Amino acid sequence: MKIAIVGSGYVGLVTGVCLAEIGHDVTCIDVDKTKINKLKKGLVPIYEPGLDVLLKKNIKNGRMSFSYSIKDGAKEATAIFIAVGTPSKKNGDADLTYVENVAREIAESMTDYKLVIEKSTVPAETGKKVAQTIRKYLPKKYRKGNKLTLDFDVASNPEFLREGSAVEDFMNPDRVVIGVESKKAEKLLREIYRPLKPKMVVTNINSAELIKHASNSFLATKISFINAISQICEQLGADVLKVAEGMGYDKRIGRQFLNAGIGYGGSCFPKDVDAFIRLSEKSGYKFQMLEEVRQINRDQINSFVKLIEDKMWIVKNKTIGLLGLAFKPDTDDMRNAPSIDIIHMLQKEGAKIKAYDPEGMPNTKAMTTGVTFSKDPYDLAKGCDCLLLVTEWAQFKDLDFEKIKKAMNHPVLFDGRNFYHDKKLDKLGFEYYGIGRPAA
Ligand code: NAD
Repeated sequence: MKIAIVGSGYVGLVTGVCLAEIGHDVTCIDVDKTKINKLKKGLVPIYEPGLDVLLKKNIKNGRMSFSYSIKDGAKEATAIFIAVGTPSKKNGDADLTYVENVAREIAESMTDYKLVIEKSTVPAETGKKVAQTIRKYLPKKYRKGNKLTLDFDVASNPEFLREGSAVEDFMNPDRVVIGVESKKAEKLLREIYRPLKPKMVVTNINSAELIKHASNSFLATKISFINAISQICEQLGADVLKVAEGMGYDKRIGRQFLNAGIGYGGSCFPKDVDAFIRLSEKSGYKFQMLEEVRQINRDQINSFVKLIEDKMWIVKNKTIGLLGLAFKPDTDDMRNAPSIDIIHMLQKEGAKIKAYDPEGMPNTKAMTTGVTFSKDPYDLAKGCDCLLLVTEWAQFKDLDFEKIKKAMNHPVLFDGRNFYHDKKLDKLGFEYYGIGRPAA
């Protein structure tokens, strides 16, 4: 099928490349010319494992092309995915400006039937607004009184991929959710995903939109739940790792997302929880549980910084090294990364900040001032009064801790992800602090 993807970021680009890989003809569109120019040369503008190889392969076999404009790029397409950003407004609402812009541009350049698919995460009822926008902006020649002479459909197809394993997730989805309101839209979407043989959940547009917000909010709830448990563990000398293990063997609960630490970040959970709270409020339901989930998440960072301040006594003029910056491993995405808040809070207290991350440093440079960036974890450790493990990159697991200890002013490590819980760093002479663990 001929497919256009509008928005070639973390989701749009992965969707485009993977759909080309399974046999479709895909045009990726973006207003960001630098991005499109890089893509035309076969260069991936983000860090996402495995994406570069598939991109090059599908450019070579002629199944991928790129465009700056919807008018040119989506002309031939039967299906157009909208994969633009839906960031938070100040009040927590999802800002749907980019979605509206794209819907309008699609309408203005339509010359034949299009299936317009929301891939972006949007609040329920957005599909209705997208359809209204298309109707409003369709050229006059396609109107006869109140009737339209050009047919189109709107559908919802939320994305569940995770940055860092996005290609794998897209190719092997747990399920594909489609929200449709016509047989034709359902048939086309089934056809698009047929090569993946996925479990399909077919429903109406509002339900599909809601499934995405409900899923992300549930996952955020699991994280905040175990973080709340970690606070109790700290008070009672219990071990949150054992509590999570004991809970996780129960199939009804599961071990995933029960990792206590400095909380969730990234471009999805914080904004989607905010947007879902606002959507619920507008629909007449006060989602107090989610408000608490959000508060617990904020408190985790505060209590991590408080722990550092307690144990270091005076933070002013101490050199603190952050091991990891990205909001999670295997990505360069710094949106809502806890590291940024931690840096700002410690700088406010007068600490000198050093940092190292395999992929997140260029983006962090644009979001911070006064941070000294290091070339590797050993360079980071030089002259540090303590280290903070913030992102659990696999390559940080088996560092030479003797070497790290020697390089530091004082061997103190605050483990914001309980990543080194099995390393017995205290036996190596480190003062080691995890989250929700009994004192060593
Ligand atoms: P992103 O910021 O990486 O990409 C969005 C892209 O859209 C940008 O490249 C931007 O230049 C482009 N864009 C904006 N307006 C445009 C226009 N009018 N025409 C063409 N391009 C335009 O965002 P993302 O992380 O890919 O997220 C996109 C959507 O997918 C969001 O709604 C997000 O919540 C959702 N989502 C993200 C993830 C994730 O892990 N990042 C996972 C699932 C769902």
